[in-house]
Amino acid sequence: MSYPDAQETPEEKWAYLRKGIIEWWSPEDHDFPWRKPDDEWKLLVTEILLQRTRASAVAQLYDDFFERFPTPESLAEASTEEVGDAIYSLGLAWRAKYISQLGDQLAELTGEVPDTRDGLKELPGVGPYVSGAFQVLHRNQPDSFVDSNVVRLLGRYFGFEWDGETRRRKWFLQFVDRLFEHEYEPSRFGYALLDFTREVCAPSPNCEVCPVRERCHFAAEHKQARI
Ligand code: SF4
Repeated sequence: MSYPDAQETPEEKWAYLRKGIIEWWSPEDHDFPWRKPDDEWKLLVTEILLQRTRASAVAQLYDDFFERFPTPESLAEASTEEVGDAIYSLGLAWRAKYISQLGDQLAELTGEVPDTRDGLKELPGVGPYVSGAFQVLHRNQPDSFVDSNVVRLLGRYFGFEWDGETRRRKWFLQFVDRLFEHEYEPSRFGYALLDFTREVCAPSPNCEVCPVRERCHFAAEHKQARI
């Protein structure tokens, strides 16, 4: 791994990235219905809907979905086909089964969502990403979550190769912890990270407006290539 500034330490590079992300973000510009306090069971179901799905698509069906299923019991009583029909427009139809099973379990728990990350992971459809995101975003707990967008950002910024398996590799899981070692409010930083990887370091990166481009490996390489 090389650094554009030879004097720069890894810690300085991490701090620059974290600061760039949090200072770029403003909640007013990123308003979604699930970013307000609400019943935890609804927020958990929403995190499953958001996996690998555009937030704008989830926003379009959010109100209709929870009007149709206003309680965990109503979700438990629905068939998998009914749940699948309600989320059809999002694709990834396999989620209907997990959401249906999750409804069963949440109804048994009378809507009480487990209060630890390990407890969350025992629920259907809730893996490392959803449990970590839920703790950070909806409970404001210092924790971490990693999706392919985060891998892409770090691969470009630090200059390493990545693929679909990177986020599960042991070295990466230790590496990415540094991203979440910050002094900011956990939920604020978490939302900023989500929005930054969606809008700035997107699949097609917007380096010209990026606040961390001066220290980004990818941006430096492309600048060099243009010269
Ligand atoms: S400069 Fe470009 S590649 Fe680097 S973090 Fe910003 S958007 Fe991503």
